[in-house]
Amino acid sequence: MIAANSARRALKILGDRWTLLILRDAFLGTRQFSAWQGRLGVTPTVLTKRLKTLVDTGIFKRARFNEVPPRVEYQLTDKGLDIYPVALMILRWEQTWFPVPAGTRMVLRHTRCGREMQPRFTCGHCSGEVTARDVRYRDGPGAGLESATANRLRRATITAQDQRGTHGFLEHAVDILGDRWSWEAIGAAFLGHKRFDAFQAQTGMASNILSDRLRRLIDDGILTRRAYQDRPPRYEYLLTEKGRDFYAATVMLVCWGDRWLAGTKGPPVLLTHKACGSALDPQVTCSGCGEVLDPHDVAYDMNDGTTARPLTLNAAT
Ligand SMILES: [Zn+2]
Ligand SMILES: [Zn+2]
Repeated sequence: MIAANSARRALKILGDRWTLLILRDAFLGTRQFSAWQGRLGVTPTVLTKRLKTLVDTGIFKRARFNEVPPRVEYQLTDKGLDIYPVALMILRWEQTWFPVPAGTRMVLRHTRCGREMQPRFTCGHCSGEVTARDVRYRDGPGAGLESATANRLRRATITAQDQRGTHGFLEHAVDILGDRWSWEAIGAAFLGHKRFDAFQAQTGMASNILSDRLRRLIDDGILTRRAYQDRPPRYEYLLTEKGRDFYAATVMLVCWGDRWLAGTKGPPVLLTHKACGSALDPQVTCSGCGEVLDPHDVAYDMNDGTTARPLTLNAAT
């Protein structure tokens, strides 16, 4: 048994490479099977399976239009649209830590204020920017134990074919986060766990899987290893600056899990913003005007010279 955790519940659905890429393209306006297939180079079997999961979990709804020939669309539900702030925080992290040459960078524009902008991670109460060091945790009404799920060893390996699907947008982040165990280990580090046994107790991962993910996260520059004992040698695992900066994406993921997957009990963990002393109501806001960013108001100037317009919603039939 391990501690109940909204991030884990969310990652059971979202901690998958193809699912993240499908969602990324949905936020850029993709609605149809053939369009995802063309953009991602994903096999029909894999795409069918992922779309079914996204419909079954209430993130997409399937809409059928009575045209000749009939057309089927997968549309984001409210639950699906609510993943948007998580995606923006992943994007911000990717743009900070995997810089690209000037002129090839994708630029975000907030259509409500008209400015080029960066999404910021702020407190809804005091409007201050929030970092990993600014937040305290305590047990919430949904705290308790739940059974650990079966472990899966494989971390998706990236093939040349897969690379085609990333067109440079969230490429690095999806490689790291398309594996729920890596993301769970990062989440455990944010809760203050440093030692192998503590990571294991928090996540329920088998030793070999945890060792593998810790090693990969060190290779990716997200964790660093420090000896705390010489004989026998023992190490603790600490977040690097790059790792700590992933905090915003993790908190938004937890909040999504709290809102949509916590059931009637409520959130397992409560967050407090130390700076203002209020319960943290995390928001993703425009660096230009300070407004909360809505997927319908963000345009993307892509690195190939095109612009992806803000998301428009079609009425489902
Ligand atoms: Zn605050
Ligand atoms: Zn703005």
